[in-house]
Amino acid sequence: MRFNLLTDAWIPIQHQGSHQKISMQQLLCGEQTGELCLPRDDMELACLQLLCAITQVLFIPKDKKALGQFVKEPITPEVYTGACKGKMDWFDLGHPETPFMQIRGVKSTQPTPMDKLLAGVADGTNKAFVNPHGLAEALCGGCAAIALFNVANNCPSMGGGFKGSLRGSTPITILINGRTLRETLWLNVLTEDMAESVMPWYSATKEQLPNYLDRIKADTKIPASRIGLNRGLLWQPAYFELLPSKFSANCSCCGCHGPVYNGFNKAKFNYTVEGIWPHPLSARIFTVKKGEREEKFPSFTTTAPTWTHMSRLVVDQQNDKEGQQTAPVIQQARTFMVTDKIQLIIGGYRNNQATVLERRHELFSLAQGWAEHGNVIQQIITDGLAYKTALRKALYLFAVGIKDKVNGSGVNLCDPVETVYYQQTENLMHNSLAAIKFEASQDELRTLNKQLKDIVIDLFNKATESYRQEPKMLKALALARRSLHKSFNELEPQGETL
Ligand SMILES: [Zn+2]
Repeated sequence: MRFNLLTDAWIPIQHQGSHQKISMQQLLCGEQTGELCLPRDDMELACLQLLCAITQVLFIPKDKKALGQFVKEPITPEVYTGACKGKMDWFDLGHPETPFMQIRGVKSTQPTPMDKLLAGVADGTNKAFVNPHGLAEALCGGCAAIALFNVANNCPSMGGGFKGSLRGSTPITILINGRTLRETLWLNVLTEDMAESVMPWYSATKEQLPNYLDRIKADTKIPASRIGLNRGLLWQPAYFELLPSKFSANCSCCGCHGPVYNGFNKAKFNYTVEGIWPHPLSARIFTVKKGEREEKFPSFTTTAPTWTHMSRLVVDQQNDKEGQQTAPVIQQARTFMVTDKIQLIIGGYRNNQATVLERRHELFSLAQGWAEHGNVIQQIITDGLAYKTALRKALYLFAVGIKDKVNGSGVNLCDPVETVYYQQTENLMHNSLAAIKFEASQDELRTLNKQLKDIVIDLFNKATESYRQEPKMLKALALARRSLHKSFNELEPQGETL
């Protein structure tokens, strides 16, 4: 089965109600347009990441001006064909020697069913309600390529000694959303100038091949600073080999009929990457311990909503103990989207080891001025969290009281009420980030705080309503109210009484 990501029509789009697949050339040359469309949100996000990676590998605009030109105008078919020269073998899913993100001749005792390549499908916990029945028995070339890329970049490792992605287990991915799909691809491509600045080893490594063409030796130690841009973007951490079916079938992911893969062989091999590879689509956070800087990629570790992560995803900060730096594509956008608002696509998995607990794929808008007013964005998030903490603290005191002074009610409402707080503030937080007028930010923050406070008061009253008639709990309730009032005063000195 021959299938090439550079020439075949594999990109699933929806345009004016109709679905079709288009090629990379049609997309970049502006011959076809539409929105990406796959039944699974995580596959759709992985597809977009793969499209951006291919665009980056084929083209690296010299500077901001050259990138601006690509964003503005579709390229010609000649330019596209020229860029593909020498790289056709990198993207051939059925290549006899060096198939895309695979190794030929992988030895495994038995083939693994295709559903293992789709994160979360094979484990029982979220299967029933997240995935339509029958998904992932067979995948067409396009969906198989997306799934391979997703497993290599975004998923927990296959477990049992299999290496995970260069970004760790389940990193948060952040992309800039353009007005069209074509524009989105370019907005997430680094210029040569930017690549040099985030990877000082860019020039020295730019001729490197992907590791499925130029293999790593087993048990080697590889400094992250020896991994070039293209090699890192297409990094395959494990050995996989797709197994084509003898028969045509419907793809269980996109539904198209044709040649499919219905299993794969996998094998682990050992190596160590030392240090952190600065992925273009990831923020990084670091702490300094005993003079050593430890970096990592943020991920969704709790059920707290995505907005709670926003400041570390888009605001740079550092002191001598810790810090955060936004994704290189966002750093780059700061220099040429200063006067615009920006729309971000943020996604990733939340996992417990090899088990995927949750998938996220969300859109966020940041108001005009976002690039220069990180401190205000930070304040919005801080306030959103502070009111939640005030509520939790009060409910905690209601539950446990104060030792030897006030008996607690013994009713712990912290977690369920926190969940409702997050639900009720979700739109408010999105809207604040999208619509804040930075030049009048103090007024706007005051208004936001007032709204958050009203929500907290309402939630507190509702949560404790049924206990107001319990004489034994009255003292605990009064204590909780005092705590809430004190927190409000700290957040807003002229706070009103409850
Ligand atoms: Zn498919």
